[in-house]
Amino acid sequence: MKKVHNFNAGPCVLPQQAVDKAIEALKDFAGTGMPVICVSHRSKEWSAVMDECRALWKELLNIPDTHEVLFLGGGASLGFLYVAMNLLENKAGYLETGVWAKKALKEAKGIGNAYAVASSAETTYNYIPKGYEIPADLDYFHITTNNTIYGTEIHEDMDCPVPLVADMSSDIMSRPVDVSKYAVIYGGAQKNVGPAGVTFVIVRKDVLGKVSRYIPTMLDYRTHIDGESMFNTPPVFPIFVMTETLKWVKELGGVEAIYKINKEKAALLYDEIDRNSLFVGTAAKEDRSIMNVCFVMAPGYEALQDEFMSFAKERGMVGIKGHRSVGGFRASIYNACPVESVQALVDCMKEFEALKK
Ligand SMILES: *Cc1c(COP(=O)(O)O)cnc(C)c1O
Repeated sequence: MKKVHNFNAGPCVLPQQAVDKAIEALKDFAGTGMPVICVSHRSKEWSAVMDECRALWKELLNIPDTHEVLFLGGGASLGFLYVAMNLLENKAGYLETGVWAKKALKEAKGIGNAYAVASSAETTYNYIPKGYEIPADLDYFHITTNNTIYGTEIHEDMDCPVPLVADMSSDIMSRPVDVSKYAVIYGGAQKNVGPAGVTFVIVRKDVLGKVSRYIPTMLDYRTHIDGESMFNTPPVFPIFVMTETLKWVKELGGVEAIYKINKEKAALLYDEIDRNSLFVGTAAKEDRSIMNVCFVMAPGYEALQDEFMSFAKERGMVGIKGHRSVGGFRASIYNACPVESVQALVDCMKEFEALKK
């Protein structure tokens, strides 16, 4: 098989161990003589996977008993609507830090009164707004902890006077999180914890049941709490691969251990961007994401962009093209991206500089 360094933004690189387990389970799942995609989701073998998956989430993120973990469909994009449907009664505030945050806000606006408390739109979301005040009369305050497209990240669990809701699609399990500070944490699995097709939700049970609207059955978190994420047929294969991915995280030493590795990987790449005269980073330094590293050609070298892209491609780099809305380059270095891949990209940047200077 061709050797590549996978920097795709999502779906993206997964631990090889999890992929291998998935291949095995497609042949014979848990000794059933059937592929995992052909067994009943009501079977005891499948229940064991659901239980293990839930238990791993709780253990790895230290999720308190006040919160429930759910596995749903619809991606983070349907998650935007879930949040508003379940929590918005009078007014909701959003921190507008990128396109995903804006899309989340749009869904809330369709349901009720929602607005951006602060925004960095005027500088193409290259920083996280600070110094804003969160009004105490909001039903909830919504943040996007990692802005996948712009490479900015909120590095700390903030204190919030109202229920805090976070889209953590692209940095879940990359760092320790104090779950007790959040009313809802949700996201698509396909950035850091599994393949596309399953959405995770961690919800504090006491924030539910406070809105007066009718909530359609499938959009009501309580349906899925009561049904233990099996009110209807769950996305069995993505959940299986997610479980194997979380087992890998645990074997590595858990989220604390992976956080340390993630910081090292990010530093390796940012140091090269800062050192290399051909490239510059686009995100404000204090807000730089440890998951998505965005950079462009330095002023005066813009014309070399396509050439570097081809140069990197020839050396096995995949998925380093920046999002179409910002251009340049983006290397997504999620949990499963090995340090060897980051080193290969750094070497490639060094080589290219030597060639051009
Ligand atoms: C990818 C992404 C989304 C969209 O996720 P889907 O599962 O495709 O709906 C939302 N928010 C963030 C932060 C993302 O990175």
